[in-house]
Amino acid sequence: MVTQAARRTQVLVLGGGPAGATTAALCAQNGLETILLEREKGPRFHIGESLMPDSYWTLKRLGVLDQMKASRHTVKYSVQFVTETGKESQPFYFFENNPHECAQTWQVVRSEFDSMLVDNAAKHGATVLQATRALDVLTCPNDPTKVIGARAHQQGFGEFDIYADVVVDATGQSSLISNKFNLKVADSLLRNASVWTYYKGASREGGLDEGATLVLALQKKKGWFWYIPLANDIVSVGVVGAMDYLLKGRGDLETIFNEELERCPGAKRRVMAGQRSGGFHTTKDFSYKSSQVAGNGWVLVGDAFGFLDPVYSSGVFLALKSGEFAADAIKGAFDSNDFSTQRLGAWGSKFLTGMDRMKRLVYAFYEGFNFGSFIRKHPEMKRHLIDLLIGDLFKDSVDEIIEPLDAMRAEFRASQAIEMAKEEEMANSI
Ligand SMILES: Cc1cc2nc3c(=O)[nH]c(=O)nc-3n(C[C@H](O)[C@H](O)[C@H](O)COP(=O)(O)OP(=O)(O)OC[C@H]3O[C@@H](n4cnc5c(N)ncnc54)[C@H](O)[C@@H]3O)c2cc1C
Repeated sequence: MVTQAARRTQVLVLGGGPAGATTAALCAQNGLETILLEREKGPRFHIGESLMPDSYWTLKRLGVLDQMKASRHTVKYSVQFVTETGKESQPFYFFENNPHECAQTWQVVRSEFDSMLVDNAAKHGATVLQATRALDVLTCPNDPTKVIGARAHQQGFGEFDIYADVVVDATGQSSLISNKFNLKVADSLLRNASVWTYYKGASREGGLDEGATLVLALQKKKGWFWYIPLANDIVSVGVVGAMDYLLKGRGDLETIFNEELERCPGAKRRVMAGQRSGGFHTTKDFSYKSSQVAGNGWVLVGDAFGFLDPVYSSGVFLALKSGEFAADAIKGAFDSNDFSTQRLGAWGSKFLTGMDRMKRLVYAFYEGFNFGSFIRKHPEMKRHLIDLLIGDLFKDSVDEIIEPLDAMRAEFRASQAIEMAKEEEMANSI
């Protein structure tokens, strides 16, 4: 039941994660009247702790770099891959491509990082309503594809409507608009799930490698572990694998996690040095994309548009970047008084091209891509690989990696087919 008077604003942002807080801050910075609704109150837990270095440029534009430098977040200089036999790649140091401070980044405690970004949106002039859930978007009676606002529920105050020229969906995996308009397309090659927890006092490398992300393959290529060193001597440790493999008929989360740890000696050895300091969490089927970035009066940013996969830690970077691209398009829409799909979605093709570059590397990883052998075979490709790991995705030169990458993927698929045929032959001969 609607209990408060309707409000009006120029930009209404639904969701106060990195994507929503970025869009709101930049729209407010551009002088647009902006309201941000966040269903939770105060700092809230979230997964997605490892940033990509190119987040630097959005954080700089938001004016929060000094806060990040002064924070307790762990500094990350590299990512390192460990094979199922425990063989470690050289760390991919981000500064190898560009020895600038933008080539280092952070492993963040998301409750603190996200609160900082929401506070920053308020500092730039956005009105932030926390404990306020968007229940549905409001559409134009004559044109159900045109979004004109949202109905919301504020804890303790009840329901109200907010009308806006532009509604930005930043509700993460809830994807309010994408679900309403049936735009969400699951990635059939990435039907994965994850189980994760936290350890205190687990092993860390020293010096430059102390804050490195480790990606450790499970035996028999059944999945992989992330190992992300956070502040206060905590490490985030999670396993990712095919949904059916990881969750079906496997018992409780602790059992699953511990069984998978046995299949990953590199992760087990490291966590054994510490004590578990958190419960177990799980999530599944998180890879999807919407078929549009914008429509008539609306824009999708961050996970509300789509999410690739956790393996290269690209989620928060893409959330920040889409927020930035969307805010620029929204400014253009107000300048030209044009809130059409084309105007609001002007950033879509550039963003999708970058996201697709990353997706090729994600697919390659799940097909068994070996970073070490690739670099040995194509040393000149290392800089492009680092570009992708940094998040420098929006330049055409990165495409030079596509041909050798696809060739290696094809070689791998061919060798797998031979292997499977051999196994079948052996099974038939028994
Ligand atoms: C297993 C796993 C591991 C990951 N690891 C990493 C990693 O290491 N690094 C990385 O960069 N990314 C990682 N990610 C991805 C990362 O979590 C997301 O990409 C990122 O949080 C997206 O930001 P966002 O702002 O789009 O959405 P979110 O961070 O999800 O924010 C959405 C916000 O909207 C609010 N909301 C939802 N519905 C409503 C509503 N109806 N009304 C009002 N508010 C609402 C929510 O409370 C939330 O605050 C991981 C993801 C998974 C699944």
